[in-house]
Parts: sequence; C-alpha cells; structure tokens
Amino acid sequence: MTLSSASRYPRLGRRGTSQFRRPDGVIGVEYNMSRVRGKDSNLFSELSNANLKEECESCRNIVTCNVCGSSISGFEHIGVRASASHESGIWHYANPCRHRNQLRSRSANVKYAGGPLWKNGYTWQNIYWGPYFTSSSSSAWVASIEKAVRDIESDKTYSGGLSQYNVGTGTVSPFITIKTAPAAKISDGQIKQILASWIASGTVPNLGSQGAYNIFLPPGVTVSLSPVEASCAFFCDYHNTISGSSGPFYTVEPYPCAKGCNQCTNNPLDTLTQGLSEEMVELKTDMNPGTGWVIGNLELCDYCDAKFVCNRISGGEYVNSWYDKNKKACWKGS
Ligand SMILES: [Zn+2]
Ligand SMILES: [Zn+2]
Repeated sequence: MTLSSASRYPRLGRRGTSQFRRPDGVIGVEYNMSRVRGKDSNLFSELSNANLKEECESCRNIVTCNVCGSSISGFEHIGVRASASHESGIWHYANPCRHRNQLRSRSANVKYAGGPLWKNGYTWQNIYWGPYFTSSSSSAWVASIEKAVRDIESDKTYSGGLSQYNVGTGTVSPFITIKTAPAAKISDGQIKQILASWIASGTVPNLGSQGAYNIFLPPGVTVSLSPVEASCAFFCDYHNTISGSSGPFYTVEPYPCAKGCNQCTNNPLDTLTQGLSEEMVELKTDMNPGTGWVIGNLELCDYCDAKFVCNRISGGEYVNSWYDKNKKACWKGS
C-alpha cells in the first residue's frame, strides 16, 4: 500500500499496512489498495484474517503445512469446482505460507457443522464486471445467464429440494454492470477488496449476510487463488466469503474455460451454467465454506462431480447435481 492510498483511507493507515500484508509478504499483488475506489468501510479492517480462524473437521488439529513444513495459524477455506485432473472440494490454504494443503477427508457422511445457511427470501445480486458486458454483442449472453440464475433458483426440485437441508429459496435482483474492466490477472484477495469497495460506495447493494453476489468475469481474465492455482488450469469457479460467517458471500464465475469444465457439451453457456448451478447450491448449503453441509472435505455437488451425470433443470439449463441425503443419491433432472 502506498502512502497516498493510506491517507485516502485513514482507517487503514491507522491500523497499519501489516493488516493487509499477505502472509508471504506480498502486498501489492494481493491487496493493491490503489484499485479500491470506494469509501472507507469496516469491511476492510476485517479482511486480513477473519477466515483464518475458521476450521473444519479435516483441519482442526493440523499445525504444520504439509507442503513446506512451516507452522501455521490456520487455513482459508474456499469452495472450488476444479477443472479436469484436479479435485473439487473445500480447498485449504495454509497461513501464513498460502500453500494449498490437500487434506484427507475424515468423514464420508453428510454433516452440518453449524454455519450459516441460505433462507427463504435471501437475495442473489448478479454483477457483470467490465465494459465487455455493456456491448450489444454480449446482451444475449447476459440475458441467458440472467435466465439461468432465475431458473436455477426457482426450480422446484433442484433448488426446492434443498429444503431437506433447511435451505430456502431466494430472489434475484436486477443485475449490475461494472463499467471499469478488471485486470487481466486478478487474485481472490483483490476480488474481496473490490467487492467490499463496491458495497461501501453503494455501487452494489449491501446484502449483509442475507444473500450473495455472483461475479461474472469477461473473456481474457484469469483469477488466482494463490500464486500456483489459476482459473481454467486448476479450477472452473468457486465461492467464498469476505469475512467468515458474516459474509459478504460471493461466487466467482470466470468466462467459461475452453476445456476441463464441461463434461456434457462444447457450448460455453452450458459450461457456465454447470459451474454456476454448483456454486449457487454450495454457497446456499455451505455459505462460509466448511461450516455448513459437507461430506468430509466435499460440498454437496463436489460429491456428485466424482460420479458425474449430465443433468438439466426444467428451464433447460445444464446443472451439476447435489447429494440428496433423503434418497441417498445425487439429484436427477426429470
Ligand atoms: Zn478445514
Ligand atoms: Zn506451506
């Protein structure tokens, strides 16, 4: 963080730059405050390590990183749909070293760990990030995604079936387009910062913990969860939270990868809706990753990804299936 941005955001300056120092010492990459255009917000003061205190059954007793061997203070948990040859699930990023630890699952049973769940009337706010989405050539693309979000959320058996998990059905707000383009390479840490700034400035409504944002990215933008794991190479999409169980909660949908994220068709919209449906279901059933309904290290769709079956909801969109604990089987379209 530069001195000028610190003085523009006095709260940050007072708390010191170490609040936003990434565990590996990189500041400018993960938390580049010069990109933040919004007003000061309490959200920023909670960005540094709110997630790190969270733990799940799989990581509770782990005190050293299994990649570098250094002692760790905890893990950030991110719900990730992996691309081909990687494994979907709750990815664990050790702090402070930021290595992804692949942990052995301690449980094969579906369990609820006490965290926040989606309730009736919660709100989806779709955010299309970049001028790409304002061009007339992409209006059909946006319209198809809008239809998909509404169809997914309102499908009687796909979303409605989640009532067995005490999860409700939400509403979809009119979408918002952000006219400034994202950088070609961005990190999840930067997305947290930007989303917080959009909320603080009123660019997007403040949903608190009663809803979530779907952030859609234009072609050519790569998102990374660490210096190693980038979108398409390692994952298709994910969901996360800015500040643990209090949110704000969000999914990130990179522009569909050409390979590795669609086992059914070659159509980019089908690729997108498969990932979007999974992230929406997993956000609703496990809003703060690892604290809601999980099967060991897996969220409810991750479990079904392992025995993947192509499925569509009544609106026609391809969706990823979730584990139905009543039927002891993965959800099937009619
Ligand atoms: Zn964990
Ligand atoms: Zn490490």
